[in-house]
Amino acid sequence: MNIFSGFKDILGQINKIDGSIYLKGKDLADVYAKNIALEEEITARTKELEQANKTILTLNSVWDMMNSSQPLSSMLDKIVSILHEDMGYHFVGVLRLYNENTDEPYLMAKSASDNPSVKKAISLLKINMENYKVPYLENSIIAKSIKERQIYSTPDMKGVIKMFFPTLKEEEIKEIMSLINSKICSIVPLHNANNYFGCVVVTSEREDVTDTETNFLKLFANQIELAITVAGLFEEVKKQAITDPLTGIFNRRYFEDNIIKEAERSLRLKQPFSLISMDLDFLKKINDTYGHQYGDIAIKTIANVLKKEARSIDIPARIGGEEFNLLLPGVDSKGAYIAAERIRKSIESQVIETIGGITASIGVATFLEHSDRIDELMELADQAMYKAKLNGRNQVQIAQQHNEVNWQQIAIETFLDILAKKRIPVSNETAQVISSKLQKIKTEDKNSKEVLYSIVDIISQTYNQMYKTGTTKSKLILAVMIAKKLDLPKDEIDKLRLAILLYDIGNIMIPEEIFNKKDPLTEEEKDIIKQHPVIAAREILKPISNIQDIIPIIESHHENWDGKGYPGNKSGIEIPITSQIVLLVDAFYAMSQDRPYRHAYTIDEIINIIKDESGKQFNEKLVDDFIYVVKNETIQ
Ligand code: GH3
Ligand code: MG
Repeated sequence: MNIFSGFKDILGQINKIDGSIYLKGKDLADVYAKNIALEEEITARTKELEQANKTILTLNSVWDMMNSSQPLSSMLDKIVSILHEDMGYHFVGVLRLYNENTDEPYLMAKSASDNPSVKKAISLLKINMENYKVPYLENSIIAKSIKERQIYSTPDMKGVIKMFFPTLKEEEIKEIMSLINSKICSIVPLHNANNYFGCVVVTSEREDVTDTETNFLKLFANQIELAITVAGLFEEVKKQAITDPLTGIFNRRYFEDNIIKEAERSLRLKQPFSLISMDLDFLKKINDTYGHQYGDIAIKTIANVLKKEARSIDIPARIGGEEFNLLLPGVDSKGAYIAAERIRKSIESQVIETIGGITASIGVATFLEHSDRIDELMELADQAMYKAKLNGRNQVQIAQQHNEVNWQQIAIETFLDILAKKRIPVSNETAQVISSKLQKIKTEDKNSKEVLYSIVDIISQTYNQMYKTGTTKSKLILAVMIAKKLDLPKDEIDKLRLAILLYDIGNIMIPEEIFNKKDPLTEEEKDIIKQHPVIAAREILKPISNIQDIIPIIESHHENWDGKGYPGNKSGIEIPITSQIVLLVDAFYAMSQDRPYRHAYTIDEIINIIKDESGKQFNEKLVDDFIYVVKNETIQ
């Protein structure tokens, strides 16, 4: 072998080795590249896993929220903060769609993330986001997203800003763009049961929205929708608890809760609020003439007027059958009078099928002006309303300050009005006697208890036929003697005197024919008789503020010691002792008089009957004291 061929051989070998070295190098590079790719994939997968984990955690917290029956607003706030903080969005807002089927639908932000640059931009625009209405334009990305139920993303941030604030000038948009450095915006539609609810708007600094992110947003939206539906149901239930079913305005409970809150606020801020109290005129006549359903329509008409006339912060409520209240935060009596007049006129101008027109009588009282106590304020508004009735109805009356109210006059007018309404004629002569007696009683009389007693005494004279025969006075003497024997405090004895004068006032509502019936009463008639203590207490005496604490005594004056009385089936010490005395005194005098169906009993017979009922109808101790008084004191 020559040296050349030997060299060639070596070269071949070297090439071979070299080739193999080269090939090995190539393999290694491959492996290295593969490793890098693998590592990248591992990182990406780990990220995805982390993302998935976060998603699950996020969805989990939405789920938790749903189970906690939180109000919608706080739920939305939490959703927004989860998306903002945990999921790294730059801005998050939940928008709700309103009036979707009208010509001017709009969106309102229900919650938005606390993003300093967005906040700064909004303050630059001087916009109050709480009331800001975003126009819902037919071809906007939001409308498309909501209607098609699709998530849409856009890098056109300028377009998004324009969509939210269409009136902005070009330079203002530029300024905002420089403040907000989001690069992409996604609109996630939300649906609530079968309706459109609105959308979530998220922006981020990322360049693009990946499929993973879209999937997450989809899942998240599903959870929010469920949460919204649950919260909506919860709010519906809550709404039902505070709404009057016939009229859809607030009920008494809601009104009472809120007047307390309003009074606290008013005292704190030294700002007045007003109470408008109204009552439909002549509802009974409407019911009697056209039927109850038309009465209901009249009631609903008033509620609709209130709804229409009330500001969003006012609280219109149906307090009872035909009684309505409207609470006007921050409004003084002048403002409230104007509002009340507007409402009165609006009610008067309603045209109702078949009935024609209706009217209402309205009273106005203002917290801090007329009184700084809620119960007094309501009482004053009620009395003003009553004055409006007495003055001829269909009018507004403003309350007088409590100490200015000539309550004797109101009491007597109220009473005369009741008598007139129940068709119990009061002659002019009687009215004049009452009125001249009243004038003698000075309002500023220091001894107000005596004044009150005089008024009640006059009332008693007008309704109570027994007054003339002297029986009422005898009952008074007997009752006071028993009370003294029982050692009742003076205050209770004073109440008892008033109760004796008034306890039978409800009888004026019982039809005459039942009263004078010779045959035993039917069950139905007995029921009518049984209602009278309640009717007396609530209906007749309610408007007379100074005798409110007599009402419970009268209400219980037919309850029996053993619980077999009426109307509340109260027993034992549940029954005020004063009511027990009224019952006994009433029974005593009833038995001592002739009735259409029986003769009067003798005193001994009466005592025996009462003894028999000791521990049953009557309290034993009371019976003992009563017998002692009857046997040892001179009574007429
Ligand atoms: P005034 O002008 O003095 O207020 O007379 P009025 O007839 O409206 O008042 P009154 O207090 O004598 O009678 C009220 C009537 O309203 C008696 C009651 O049966 C009726 N009423 C109460 N609640 C309802 C209701 O929800 N629907 C209907 N249709 N009637 C009701
Ligand atoms: Mg009425």
